[in-house]
Amino acid sequence: MGAWEQTVLGEVRVTFVGTGSTGDPRRRCGTTLLTLADGSHLLVDTGGGNETLIALERAQVDLTRLRAIVLTHQHLDHAAGLPFVLFSLAMAAVRGKSVGEVHVCVPAGARDGLRAMCDTLFPGMQNPWWLAGRAKWHGCDPADYLWRIELRDDGTAEVVADVASRAGQALGEGVVAAIETMAVSHGAPPVPAQAVRIETRRADGSACRIVISGDTGPNAGMGRFAAGADLLIHEAVEAEALGAHPVFVPGTGHVTAAMAGRIAAMARPKRLALHHLNAATGQRPEVVRDEAATHFEGEVVVPDDMDVLVV
Ligand SMILES: [Zn+2]
Repeated sequence: MGAWEQTVLGEVRVTFVGTGSTGDPRRRCGTTLLTLADGSHLLVDTGGGNETLIALERAQVDLTRLRAIVLTHQHLDHAAGLPFVLFSLAMAAVRGKSVGEVHVCVPAGARDGLRAMCDTLFPGMQNPWWLAGRAKWHGCDPADYLWRIELRDDGTAEVVADVASRAGQALGEGVVAAIETMAVSHGAPPVPAQAVRIETRRADGSACRIVISGDTGPNAGMGRFAAGADLLIHEAVEAEALGAHPVFVPGTGHVTAAMAGRIAAMARPKRLALHHLNAATGQRPEVVRDEAATHFEGEVVVPDDMDVLVV
């Protein structure tokens, strides 16, 4: 039995491991775990430290079934947990557990720096005795609109060169999931950043599309990128909180909940989940939800840490 042929759960689940942001000490930083129908996992962002590992252990998530880590960008609340996740995989491998390839998909412009961060924080972590080459680093360069990698049921993966021919198409035979990224603008000063789209199938064969904005300023492309999503997870800032906290103006690469609602109105996902809230600046989940719902007629949820949605 291969590493990825274990218990078939059948459903696709999203666990909101963290729903907060840098400035909010009361919630974990924005981290999302996707559990595919075959029971393997994808992690989008890693939080700011070891809190993601603690939360996942409490939720009894088997990290050795992690197939990919996608970082939307290098900011500390999204990327600083990466060395902890990789280190725990290295420890599992050293203890003789079966650890397959883990595809670390980061914006191309941040790849060398993030890899150096991991090597600096624990020299040797990625050497042949530890991760033994299992961590496959990818600099996602969506120069041609999209970057795409396909994860196969035999544990292998392929970066797709001709994205245009596959984007939006049904998954091919043996493909468990496709991860696509699109560049977005974020940060002052700007940092390389990407939104993430995951295409997969439920056990009944039906297609399932989940889109995560990452941190992003207003982006006209998001409406198209998220079109037809079963779940759109978008960052949002309470508009009422903006005036008192000028760091969260759209020019720094964030959007208000109202803007997220307008993007959802274009994309028409089945459900819109808003996260990256900052309670320290007085952002209230119910206000964020209502601001988005003014523009988007569909279901809007504002999950709390460790909430789970079946998609
Ligand atoms: Zn950020």
